[in-house]
Amino acid sequence: MYRLTTGHRTSIVVATVLTLVGSVLGLAQPLVAKQIVDVSGQGRAFWPLLLLLAVLFVTEAATGAIGRFVLERMGEGVVRQLRHGLVGRLLRLEMREYDRHRSGDLISRVTADTTLLREVVSQALVDLVTGALVAAGAIALMLWIDPLLLLLVALTVATAAAIVASLLKGIRAASEHMQNSVGAIAADLERALGALPMVRVHRAEDREAQRIGKRIEAAHDAGVRTAKLASVMSPAVELAVQGSFLIVLVIGGLRVTGHANSLGDLVAFLLYASYLVLPLSSVFRAVGLIQRGMGAYQRIEQALALPTEPTQAQMPAVRARTRQSAPPNVSHEEPVLALRDLTFGYTPDRPVLRGVTLTVPHRRQTALVGQSGAGKSTIFALVARFYEPDSGTLLFDGGPATELTRAECRARIAVVDQNAHVVHGTLRDNITYAAPDAAEAEVRRVVELAQLDDVVRRLRGGLSGLLGDRGNTLSGGERQRIAIARALLARPQLLLLDEPTSHLDAINETALTTVMKDVAQGCALLVIAHRLSTVQHADQIVVLDNGRTTASGRHEELLTSSPTYRQLAAGQMLRPAVPRPSR
Ligand code: ADP
Repeated sequence: MYRLTTGHRTSIVVATVLTLVGSVLGLAQPLVAKQIVDVSGQGRAFWPLLLLLAVLFVTEAATGAIGRFVLERMGEGVVRQLRHGLVGRLLRLEMREYDRHRSGDLISRVTADTTLLREVVSQALVDLVTGALVAAGAIALMLWIDPLLLLLVALTVATAAAIVASLLKGIRAASEHMQNSVGAIAADLERALGALPMVRVHRAEDREAQRIGKRIEAAHDAGVRTAKLASVMSPAVELAVQGSFLIVLVIGGLRVTGHANSLGDLVAFLLYASYLVLPLSSVFRAVGLIQRGMGAYQRIEQALALPTEPTQAQMPAVRARTRQSAPPNVSHEEPVLALRDLTFGYTPDRPVLRGVTLTVPHRRQTALVGQSGAGKSTIFALVARFYEPDSGTLLFDGGPATELTRAECRARIAVVDQNAHVVHGTLRDNITYAAPDAAEAEVRRVVELAQLDDVVRRLRGGLSGLLGDRGNTLSGGERQRIAIARALLARPQLLLLDEPTSHLDAINETALTTVMKDVAQGCALLVIAHRLSTVQHADQIVVLDNGRTTASGRHEELLTSSPTYRQLAAGQMLRPAVPRPSR
């Protein structure tokens, strides 16, 4: 946790000095009170002492306020630092980690866990430092006044400390449980809200509510458990100190009558003993809070330690090349993309691609066909370098992809997948996502190319019109065409297109064919083909069979040479769209 204070050490020093000053001012007060009692007992004027006491009160309050503000501001600073760090890492997460984690849970680490940690840093640290200093000072002064009385006090306080120590373990466990439950609530809620139409259609609102309800109950139970343990703690300390009070009153009173101490000594001692109550209980509360924060901190640390994609600076080969500032190896003799004997599995025990070899020439249309689950989308994922192959080579313009950063590889391609992601924002935001500074004329060009004019016309505000969350106010075909416009605006060398299967009507299908024709003039196209029209137009068709490339060629050639292709062609996937006879 110490690392959290990096960059905030000045604040800590300032706050500690202020706290120290405040504590000294506070601790001086009973001494002045003792003087007032003793001086007035002797019938002398005590007004100056009273004034001094008032000044002590005010300055103590002022230093307390400034010190607290410095620490609170530091707490906010720590949260800001953690949030920047977390967001930066989460957005660069390795795809495997992204697959493995639930995004709602990751989000809650940026929101809920950092908030809990802020409390720890700003509150618990103040309480711990102030409490410990005041308690130590009070104990030292009590030792000076009467060591015997202090020993009696110490015994009772030690008993309380033992109880507290045993409570802290439980608090930490309960709190970790609670933070995990809060993460699970966020993850489950995201699951349900992310697929609300499906939830509705299956009348599963109650089931989802119950599922999330269980998480809420778990968080509640863990919270109550923490509260129970935490609330026992302060009274335990208070009881111990009150017990000491009784002892001090009886024994101390006897010592005053026996003339071992003055009445002022007893008053000061009692004041110090009362000063112990607050600092000690705030020390114990702070330790409890720190225990709770540890769980949140662990979850944040875990997220910060997740593997992320290497940046340019982390790639020595690329750094060397950048220093020489050699232009990227773009030679139009080499194919824009080549896969050589590529093997890959999402898990080591189950290969999905087994020796895939294919080349995509410049300005040509290559179609990828194969049964569902054959590994077509996985090829896209490897080309986009979401995952690295287990063996084999991926080449861009004849050069190994590993000599380029992932960003450099991605700059050459654009992907339109089946999901056709639309983000919350305007239509223009969505189209210019790849190039936010694109010129208006360029935007108009891709709008026309992707045949989006009707959407622009219909949408209130045109290009500046807002699209709903995930674009759910649009049709599947419209989303697809927005994704195409976005891809074209990036002016890629290679467009990867997962051809929409179901949500294209005849008009859209013609539109798409036109777009693809236009696109193929400017860049290469690798398309996962589901329709006969696409494969018939393709310059090259590659057949993927259970993770292996088994044949490639043109439609007619493959009909004779590839049994898998024949089977695919005979199946529904590649059948030409025949209008149904009307009844
Ligand atoms: P296709 O696009 O040809 O239908 P995919 O490439 O999507 O096939 O899938 C190939 C295989 O890889 C399937 O068995 C699928 O279950 C598996 N798969 C796809 N994506 C993942 C992933 N992110 N994690 C684990 N397995 C995956």
